[in-house]
Amino acid sequence: MPKCDICRARDAAVLQAHTGLRLCKACFFSDIVARTAREIFRYNMIRYGDKVLIGVSGGKDSFVLLNILSQIYEPSKLGGVTVIEGIEGYNRAEHIDEIRRAVRERGVEIHIVSIKDLWGASVDDMVRLSIEKGQRISPCTYCGIHRRKSINLVARELGYDKVATAHNLDDEAQTIIINILRGDTARLYMNHPLRPKGSELFIDRIKPLRKIYEWETAKYAYLAGYRPQEVECPYLELFPSLRVRVRDMIYRIEASRPGSMLRLLEWFDRVFDPSRLRASESIKLSTCIICGEPTSPGRTLCKSCELQIGLLGKVEIAKRTMKRGHSI
Ligand code: SF4
Ligand code: ZN
Ligand code: ZN
Repeated sequence: MPKCDICRARDAAVLQAHTGLRLCKACFFSDIVARTAREIFRYNMIRYGDKVLIGVSGGKDSFVLLNILSQIYEPSKLGGVTVIEGIEGYNRAEHIDEIRRAVRERGVEIHIVSIKDLWGASVDDMVRLSIEKGQRISPCTYCGIHRRKSINLVARELGYDKVATAHNLDDEAQTIIINILRGDTARLYMNHPLRPKGSELFIDRIKPLRKIYEWETAKYAYLAGYRPQEVECPYLELFPSLRVRVRDMIYRIEASRPGSMLRLLEWFDRVFDPSRLRASESIKLSTCIICGEPTSPGRTLCKSCELQIGLLGKVEIAKRTMKRGHSI
């Protein structure tokens, strides 16, 4: 058994392809924690005293994020939020119990909300209506938009300063390539860790794991003894998205040139730094005239209200919003 290239004492447990190093479990954990802390520090993601709400899905990435943040930051300043999408066969009661346990074990408070309770329809409801209407909108669009909107609402109403999501390097590399393929410069800038806040209604989002490979979060979770019930979302197979095709392409490149994803993100960080924009180009978010939540610059409706209007009509959505108010 080869020895660890860092401590030279313990047996190696991991081969890190992008550095060529063999690491033991302890040095591998230290490396991941140190790289995450460095990224937080580099972009000043958390200021002393900030209350940070972690998006907790129960998967390996959110476990790793929770595990690392509760080591390097004050657990009493952390919270977790789990959003139940309302996807049959995916959101299981025992899974939610497991998430609650993992979060509470670390002295972190957990909030559980559902898209149906907050916005009147579950992801399954929206997908069913969309198919009935012959629309060609991916379930991930309904799901992602409403999940983000729910987390922002919980964070704002409960007084959190930051929302931390468990996006890893693979997610970030895919997002960059997708936005380049779409020619969406505004979104490229909006995805940078130094993007301006844009609206007081919008709680700053941070991604501390953005330079950690997905295989590393999987290995970390495994070596830490976390065995999540990884149930695949049924929509993944039914509606393979552009993201899946981009992911496969990036993996082929990474396999032949280890470190490519990291170099892509480093390049992105330099080139799409929003501080290079002139004041006249700075990003200012608009407010949705129906739900009052922040939306992209120049829009009058947020994407979530636009999608729901496409399914149920404007009057129904306005009535639901008025009835619900904004308390969670
Ligand atoms: Fe939502 Fe499933 Fe798409 Fe993930 S794969 S964003 S859970 S619909
Ligand atoms: Zn070691
Ligand atoms: Zn809206």
